[in-house]
Amino acid sequence: MALIVQKYGGTSVGTTERIKNVARRVQASRERGDDVVVVVSAMSGETNRLLALAEEIGPNPPAREVDVLVSTGEQVTIALLTMALESIGTPARCYTGPQVRILTDSAHSRARILDIDAKQINDDLRLGRVVVVAGFQGVDESGAITTLGRGGSDTTAVAIAAALKADECQIYTDVDGVYTTDPRVVPKARRLERITVEEMLELASLGSKVLQIRSVEFAGKYKVPLRVLSSFKEGPGTLITYEENPMEEPLISGIAFNRDEAKLTVLGAPDVPGIAASILGPISDAGIEVDMIIQNVSTSGATDFTFTVHKRDYEQALKILQDNKDKLGAREIYGDPKIVKLSLVGVGMRSHAGVASTMFKALSAEGINIQMISTSEIKISVVVDEKYLELGVRTLHTAFGLDDENAQVEVEGDNA
Ligand code: ASP
Ligand code: MG
Repeated sequence: MALIVQKYGGTSVGTTERIKNVARRVQASRERGDDVVVVVSAMSGETNRLLALAEEIGPNPPAREVDVLVSTGEQVTIALLTMALESIGTPARCYTGPQVRILTDSAHSRARILDIDAKQINDDLRLGRVVVVAGFQGVDESGAITTLGRGGSDTTAVAIAAALKADECQIYTDVDGVYTTDPRVVPKARRLERITVEEMLELASLGSKVLQIRSVEFAGKYKVPLRVLSSFKEGPGTLITYEENPMEEPLISGIAFNRDEAKLTVLGAPDVPGIAASILGPISDAGIEVDMIIQNVSTSGATDFTFTVHKRDYEQALKILQDNKDKLGAREIYGDPKIVKLSLVGVGMRSHAGVASTMFKALSAEGINIQMISTSEIKISVVVDEKYLELGVRTLHTAFGLDDENAQVEVEGDNA
């Protein structure tokens, strides 16, 4: 008998019919003899609907109250799922995050889980009940409701699995596992049988939205056995692993892309010690995070400096640079929000040279100009014009032998 934590995303509980379907799945797991804790998201579209309501009231609503509002989405699904379980004869109890005491810090809309009181859950399991817990939410020391950031139900599930020392944490979603890239962009994307936690972390941070990044960090820290699988289709899904097997690792496991960045360039700044700090200091003082950074070697004492920020910070960053242009002694400030970042990820590239050159050759064969490059041990990223997003990802997918010629995927988008 195993203890399984199952998490169902927004699409999987998007209608009452689907909630009944989830109940049957949970019941089937029970009948196989497993103890089951279920974590659910809000019904698909619900969190966005609630956020839109807040916006109708006015700009900048208080963060504390936004969390009270958006946490209601998950409260609806736990109740409906528990009713559905009871109606088919499976004893169940549901709890909100505060009720099971998922203790978090007080950072509203992006709170971190500090502690979970497993007693209530264990007591119910011992009585033969399925325990249904609301994802995405917790409570801080003062009793205020908090939420964990978009996609936070994944983190709730992994944290509960860690607290209960569950045998497996299963994330049910609308795709049947982790793919080599987004099947909506590359129809020949292939499901991975397994992926290392390091690769999964990179993919999540690079914009692949299968799992919330914090849930992967959490899983890595506590080595929670984690599996991503479909709630609509039977299959083994993708197992997140904690050990590398160098003989078996493919060169590239996945290709991620990110449309959320914008590029800023300071042209002709004096190449003196401290110039990077003078450019980026005011940017970071404004709370703007910088991702890629490139500085050219100067030949004439002047240097060009390029970096990327999130698109939402683009206008502000551009203004900061323009305001500082004279102080920096720069010739010109230039910005471009129409870029995408394409990234190859694979622990296999650690031990292989030539990944970068294969990547660059493949892109140039399609006439795709590379604007920026950055590398780390298991990742290579390039920035290209946004119009090359699909062509670029498809080209790389083929160039690294990732295409699944028999692929037939249907995807919907798992948004709660
Ligand atoms: N409902 C929340 C969201 O849409 C949390 C989740 O679904 O994981 O972000
Ligand atoms: Mg999700």
